[in-house]
Amino acid sequence: MSARRFLLLLCISIPFAASASLGQQSRFRVLAFYSDTTEPDHIQFAKDAVKFLSERAANEHFTFDATSKWEDLNDERLKGYQLVIWLNESPSKAEQRSAFQRYIEQGGTWLGFHAAAYNDKNTNWPWFVEFLGGAVFSINSWPPLPARVEIDDQTHFVMTGIPRQFESPANEWYIWQPSPRVNQNVRILATLDPSNYPIGFKDVLTSGDLPVVWTNTKYRMLYMNMGHGDKIFTSTIQNRLIDNAVIWLGTGAAPETPVEGSGIRINAHGIVLDSQTGKFYAVNPSKDTVTVLDRNGHFVSRIPVGKEPVSLASNPDTNRVYVANSGSGNVSVVDGHTDKVIATVAVGDLPYTIAVNRPANKVYVSRTFSDITVIIDGKTDTPTTIKAGIGDAVAAESLDNATYMTSFESLHLTVFDGKNDRTAKIETPNHMWAIAGSPARNKVYAVSVGNSNVTVIDGTSHATRTVSTGESPCAVAVDYSSGKAFVANFVSNNVTVIDGASDSVVGTMSVGPKPQAIAVDSNNHKVYVVSTHERTVTVLDGTKNSVLGTVKVEKWPFAIAVNSQTHLAAVLSLDGDLTLIDGTTMATSSPVPPRD
Ligand code: ZN
Repeated sequence: MSARRFLLLLCISIPFAASASLGQQSRFRVLAFYSDTTEPDHIQFAKDAVKFLSERAANEHFTFDATSKWEDLNDERLKGYQLVIWLNESPSKAEQRSAFQRYIEQGGTWLGFHAAAYNDKNTNWPWFVEFLGGAVFSINSWPPLPARVEIDDQTHFVMTGIPRQFESPANEWYIWQPSPRVNQNVRILATLDPSNYPIGFKDVLTSGDLPVVWTNTKYRMLYMNMGHGDKIFTSTIQNRLIDNAVIWLGTGAAPETPVEGSGIRINAHGIVLDSQTGKFYAVNPSKDTVTVLDRNGHFVSRIPVGKEPVSLASNPDTNRVYVANSGSGNVSVVDGHTDKVIATVAVGDLPYTIAVNRPANKVYVSRTFSDITVIIDGKTDTPTTIKAGIGDAVAAESLDNATYMTSFESLHLTVFDGKNDRTAKIETPNHMWAIAGSPARNKVYAVSVGNSNVTVIDGTSHATRTVSTGESPCAVAVDYSSGKAFVANFVSNNVTVIDGASDSVVGTMSVGPKPQAIAVDSNNHKVYVVSTHERTVTVLDGTKNSVLGTVKVEKWPFAIAVNSQTHLAAVLSLDGDLTLIDGTTMATSSPVPPRD
């Protein structure tokens, strides 16, 4: 869950407490605790888990009770339960913690999912960290994505009937530091397969040991990393694993070298084209710089900016480029003539996505874990803040003097009117990830990675229409001349083509595996689709809906921008390196002189 738990605690209460009883003799009794005031996707998981476990209780003849009252974590209430489950949180009160400790020390068993084991320097519960095998939360992937899980120990009861590898549904994956694997008492049962790396669209895990199911053999306990969102119970294999865990705990049925995990936070707009000068600007988060290429792709300069730059936006009218620096909480303003930073604007912690409204000459900046949007006046470089109620916005796009911002967990997107800074909300599905505007049609396309559809918004009336895509759409681009929208589908490995006039799907094209970035050359109608995973870019003919070819990229390609005058595509890799693709010959080249 990471610090995501601190954003927007929606004041909703979902009555899904359950008590399943049965006709036959109960084999054992289970009490599950959950919070209904935590992060929405953790509440959703708890709701699904209560339903799943209630059904299993009926079939497997055990008693299952669930409660959101953590004060029930006391000696009296725990009596008679063989298994305590924490679905989405851990107790924060001292008396609840000590009651749990007594319960475990007297032979009780525990099953914890996902955020139940989250702990950091503020948790202040050393016994619990020891209980977990020493695991301390370090970093996470974001947003939730499916991943291949490898079983370490097929001999364990919990792995009965589980194949050596399986595809685990969309989840937020945690890396622990220290990893429980270094603890001699810990038996790791399953691990995220390293072939998943890099994984994430925003918080990208690039390497590291990521145990997902383990037990500390000093106790009767099992932890599973799964537990974020509404997809967890969609895998029959994983359901079997959860089933096995409950039965194992309910019925009572070698140290390795630690590998540090690594990750990076970046944005699909880590590279932009300034349409006036034709120059490319690309962030290099590890070097705290922005790389500039000229219209022909030649290296121009490397501009020192703030710490950990993640995203960029340009205003061709004023020839300014804005750089959101996640690590230093500010925005660097770059003069596009001299390529020098001419101002640095403090915007608060963790700026993430950035968009320019050209007619209003305003810059909109979202911040991770925050519902504060910062608006920078392009004339004076003065920031103002607005609490628009859009937590952790991940994508923004401007069209017709309005800026549209989406967030992952909201059931709406927010529109900022550039004339008066008024905001409006447009109802959408949740789990929005990317957005693109079509100026010619005054439409906005916002894709929901969690719902496999795109919401088409009329820029004037704000009327919406939902169009089905492939599975887990995560990137969208519009051909400004044909008006077609192209949507990259992460799970189904293809691109959905939507007609700009009718909003109907007019084609589907297969691309490289796990596509996660897309760009269109509106002059020759070529579409570039980035597979970070395979390290390729698939080039499509957007007119004939056919595949023209696949281009290899040395490093992990992540973000892409195209100059439709020179037909050059520039691909930004996770390590900050750039690769150019000549759209006419499909030849690749590297624009940057030897690395310093
Ligand atoms: Zn989570």
